[in-house]
Amino acid sequence: MVLVKNILSTQNVSISQYSTIKEAVEILGNSSEEAIVILDTDDKPICTFTERDLIKVLTNKIDLSRPILEITRKNIITVNHNRTLEYALNVLIDNNIRRVVAVDDEDKFIGIASQKHIIKYIEEESFKTNILVSNIISQKLNLITINQNKTVNEAVSLMAQYEISSVLITDNQNTTIGLFTEKDVVHISSSNKSLSTPLYEVCSFDLQTVRHDDNLKDVVDIMSKKDISIALVLDSQNNPTSILSTRDIAHNIKGNYNKFLETRLKGVKSTLNYIGELIIEVCSDNNKQIIQWINEASINRFGHQIIDKEISSVIGIEEWCNIYTEIRTNQKYTKKKIQIDEYFYEMICSYHFISNKETILMILRDVTDYEDRVTCEVLKREEKEKELALLQNVINQQSSLIIVSNGTKIELVNQSFLDFYDVSSPTQFHKSYNCICDTFVAHPSFFHLTPDDKNWIDTILQLPEKDRVVSIVNLKTIEPKAFSVQINNLLPNSNRFVITLTDITDIKLESQKHYYHATHDTLTKIYNRSFFLDKLNDEITASSRYKTPFSLVIFDIDYFKKFNDTYGHLKGDEVLVSVCEVVNLNIRKTDIFARWGGEEFVILLPHTTIQKAEILAENLRKLIEKISLDKINNITASFGISEYTQGDTEKTLIQKSDECLYRAKANGRNQVVI
Ligand code: GH3
Ligand code: MG
Ligand code: MG
Repeated sequence: MVLVKNILSTQNVSISQYSTIKEAVEILGNSSEEAIVILDTDDKPICTFTERDLIKVLTNKIDLSRPILEITRKNIITVNHNRTLEYALNVLIDNNIRRVVAVDDEDKFIGIASQKHIIKYIEEESFKTNILVSNIISQKLNLITINQNKTVNEAVSLMAQYEISSVLITDNQNTTIGLFTEKDVVHISSSNKSLSTPLYEVCSFDLQTVRHDDNLKDVVDIMSKKDISIALVLDSQNNPTSILSTRDIAHNIKGNYNKFLETRLKGVKSTLNYIGELIIEVCSDNNKQIIQWINEASINRFGHQIIDKEISSVIGIEEWCNIYTEIRTNQKYTKKKIQIDEYFYEMICSYHFISNKETILMILRDVTDYEDRVTCEVLKREEKEKELALLQNVINQQSSLIIVSNGTKIELVNQSFLDFYDVSSPTQFHKSYNCICDTFVAHPSFFHLTPDDKNWIDTILQLPEKDRVVSIVNLKTIEPKAFSVQINNLLPNSNRFVITLTDITDIKLESQKHYYHATHDTLTKIYNRSFFLDKLNDEITASSRYKTPFSLVIFDIDYFKKFNDTYGHLKGDEVLVSVCEVVNLNIRKTDIFARWGGEEFVILLPHTTIQKAEILAENLRKLIEKISLDKINNITASFGISEYTQGDTEKTLIQKSDECLYRAKANGRNQVVI
């Protein structure tokens, strides 16, 4: 087996990256190769400088003293010197290049393996098939000729114009007498000869000619021996018909190369036997796709008997038609999941033409276990869905509104929720409301979110349980409803909650009624004595702690016994109601006004000094004086006021106010005493 390193040219084939074009041309002139390699300081190849590059330099009149790197393109394909020649040929043909640049294991440059050398050494197998020159000259070329009296310069222009590596030289009778090649251009440039030298002085008259019926193997031998890469092809009348280059021969090998590939494939196939994936080779024969070869893994799965059977009989006609159509259309490969018997496979098909035979390589990866897992997952999911449906059924039977939510976004609700909000799904609910808390009525007796609160769940959970009550208007009946709110984590430590809203409207109304009666006076509807005492107690506590002032007013209607006696008890009741109305309208919201008993009332004035309380009482006294009931207008009241001082109790404070009231009565009534 010949390796790349066995055929390398190593003399005069490289130059430093810091060289000029001129220096590169000199090396190229001494080289037997058509190109030299430019190396960096580590001896690694950067790019090549070829005879063709020189033609371009000359036609573009570039100064030869310029650095070589200015005119070369920095891309290069290198191969390791231990590769086989077959491999190198593959690289040449596939990448359409004329030589491989060989490097060692450290990527340092070693030498050049040119096309002609590779062809010479490549396995003779390729040429054994008696190929004739005529087999590889596919079309008649327009041969470019130039008269021997023309200059080198003119020849170079022609070569650049037609992108050819040589021109034929003719004499004055138009007979081909010689050849002028890129190599000749290199020699002229490196020897400082003028470009206006006539061609007959510099061209080569040693013209290698070949005939159409020459055996290609013999031609290669001659070209190799003479170290030339171009020969002139003559027809039977000795007229030149075309040029045969080593490049043409290399491409011919590509034709034969399929055979070579086939041989290689056999080697590859034995490797494929070690692969766990199932591999099937299918070849077209008489429009049938027949299984020609399978690897060991496939033999174990399908048995030998599937060889020579149609592939459609294994994977199903319909499936095969789809795959075959697709793979023929994109001519490349297709990936697909298929089922054969109880197994699932991920299949990759690749499409080839080997020796003009349509060949399809199929790789099947067994993914049955994976599919089983997927099936298992599906079953589990169905089970979960069933459970969920059951759960939904259970919560639907609850009359409370039940919501599963992270606090804002609702995930799951029960039927009662949907009925109450008159929606069909949480999604529809969210079209109208961002959060359930947006539906809570902003009423002082109920929990609702103020602009400061960020998260209603956190806020409501800070309240004692009895205060976790919200009011929501039932939009169908326009009735406000009261709901007690219960919040539980769906799972421990999760931020998903089960929120239960239980309608307590009736209970709430009932208890409100009870509360009202327990704290209010039936006749006058103002607070009663016991409520007042509670508030007085609270105020004393607050005031003793925060040292804020507050005052206590007691007033009593004058000569009320006489009034009753004169106008009757019912009229007396009316007076009591009227007095309360007047007082209610003229005190602050925060003041606590209550009936102490009979025709005696108290007012608690928080944050109020005795002076301010006196002004208020004086105002009330005047307003009461003005009350007129059915032309009865002799209603007056007497006021006693005291201010809380540190150490006062309910008892002492009331006593102080009471004493003032007594003095007001004693002083003639209808007056305020502090
Ligand atoms: P003074 O100016 O000293 O306060 O004389 P007075 O008559 O108002 O005081 P007294 O305590 O002697 O009488 C209070 C009267 O108030 C006796 C009672 O009939 C009457 N009274 C108490 N509660 C009510 C009530 O709810 N309705 C009516 N109409 N009268 C009431
Ligand atoms: Mg009285
Ligand atoms: Mg009284």
